[in-house]
Amino acid sequence: MSVEHHIASIRNEINDSVTLVAVSKTKPAEAILDAYTAGQREFGENKVQELAGKFELLPKDIHWHLIGHLQSNKVKYIAPFVSLIHSVDGLKLLAEINKQALKNNRVIDCLLQFHVATEETKFGLNQTEAIDLLNSDAYTSMKNIRIVGIMGMASFTDNISLIRSEFQSLKSIFDSLKGSHFREDDAFKEISMGMSGDYKIAVEEGSTMIRVGSTIFGSR
Ligand SMILES: *Cc1c(COP(=O)(O)O)cnc(C)c1O
Repeated sequence: MSVEHHIASIRNEINDSVTLVAVSKTKPAEAILDAYTAGQREFGENKVQELAGKFELLPKDIHWHLIGHLQSNKVKYIAPFVSLIHSVDGLKLLAEINKQALKNNRVIDCLLQFHVATEETKFGLNQTEAIDLLNSDAYTSMKNIRIVGIMGMASFTDNISLIRSEFQSLKSIFDSLKGSHFREDDAFKEISMGMSGDYKIAVEEGSTMIRVGSTIFGSR
């Protein structure tokens, strides 16, 4: 099946209200253009350099998502154009995003990344760390970032009930933060969870944004 068919069949399985981010990391510009021609506009990359290179090459109405771990010293390369940063895991990084967004005269949308999986190698905050961040004076004074939700990854396993319970944890973290810090804020509405292997479960558990790579573009 073609890239176009894969996108259509995923779209067919999920509600229109769920955003499909096509994860194009390691894939060439031609593959992205196939998806673009099929109407896809949201694309995700996990490396800054690759993202910046593809931004230069490809149509300017693409919305680029940075989904991988982000080092503060690299924010400047994506700040002029990035649409959503999924992987904010600390105040220092958020402060740098705010600074670079200000330089570019923009407000950059961000998600707080949470660690819910069993693997220690995955990045992300726990709930206490997130609340400390949101309560800090530094965060309150940032005018050029906007936190629009949360992101997380389930464990890499075929244990469906473990995956489901990790997605439920993310949903409950979202609900809790919505109530405590974003009650009046309609922009805080995204739960970015679900990849090729688990997006159906993620959507059942309340995902608003799935990040799908290999099911669309083939294995890497
Ligand atoms: C690579 C990646 C994905 C997509 O993974 P697939 O299994 O290919 O769908 C989603 N989210 C993040 C953070 C990734 O790094």
